[in-house]
Amino acid sequence: MQSSALVTGAASGIGQAVVEQFLDDGSTDHVAALDIDPTIHDTFDEAVSTSVVDVSDHKEVHEVVDQIEQTHDITAVVNNAAISRYYWLGDLTFEEWQEVINVNLTGQYNVAHAVGPKMYERGDGAIVNVSSTAGQRGSASAGVHYSASKAGVLGLTKGLAKQLAPSVRVNSVVPGLIDTPLATDSELWSDEELAAFVERLPAGRLGDPDEVARVIHFLCGEGSAYMTGSVVNVDGGSALV
Ligand code: NAD
Repeated sequence: MQSSALVTGAASGIGQAVVEQFLDDGSTDHVAALDIDPTIHDTFDEAVSTSVVDVSDHKEVHEVVDQIEQTHDITAVVNNAAISRYYWLGDLTFEEWQEVINVNLTGQYNVAHAVGPKMYERGDGAIVNVSSTAGQRGSASAGVHYSASKAGVLGLTKGLAKQLAPSVRVNSVVPGLIDTPLATDSELWSDEELAAFVERLPAGRLGDPDEVARVIHFLCGEGSAYMTGSVVNVDGGSALV
């Protein structure tokens, strides 16, 4: 059976860059790119199979994974899809809280639940879950819902790393502020706030999606064979500020 890498949230930003890393190095025979946004079908050429999937829908995720697994063994998973919408605590509705938890945290569980046991039975696989510095330190600008969802991702990663050991490795990547629509087109920051944040960063600039994708790709490959349960920051030194 041929191997496949599965990447969620692949129509934009970091997820799109991760798919391109897999295509460039050919470490898997096949790449499956998932997104809720139908533009996923126009994002790549025919080398990538694309599906419109809402990661928060448990049944939909299982169906697409079962479909891929009919022809390919999924050997790498990148749990990347997420949403971020600012609300001050007093304005955050219960529905908005649930939506962010459902996409950002339950979405990663859904994919791990569909793929992880199959990897475990085969004795091979790597899962990378994308968190955020908001999950480590909390973020007032991203909100309590986003911060909590991304902290949950770190716990999910460590639990999975223990349950799926020794043959399936599970790691987290923690991006800082990366130049993607999620960070820059949103209402999280004014231009002045963004400029002030960047000025304080040791790196002195926003990250490029490619710079995160390269680390995610490394964590999916042989070079990281002795890494599991790790939390790897790719944040331009923002943890130091
Ligand atoms: P992005 O908005 O460019 O891409 C996110 C993708 O996820 C989009 O294509 C979107 O359509 C998709 N998506 C949203 N909801 C979905 C759902 N229910 N099902 C399937 N797909 C869905 O964002 P990005 O910056 O590339 O973010 C990628 C990851 O990096 C996210 O987990 C995000 O939380 C994390 N992150 C980003 C930054 C940053 O500064 N950009 C910082 C920290 C963490």
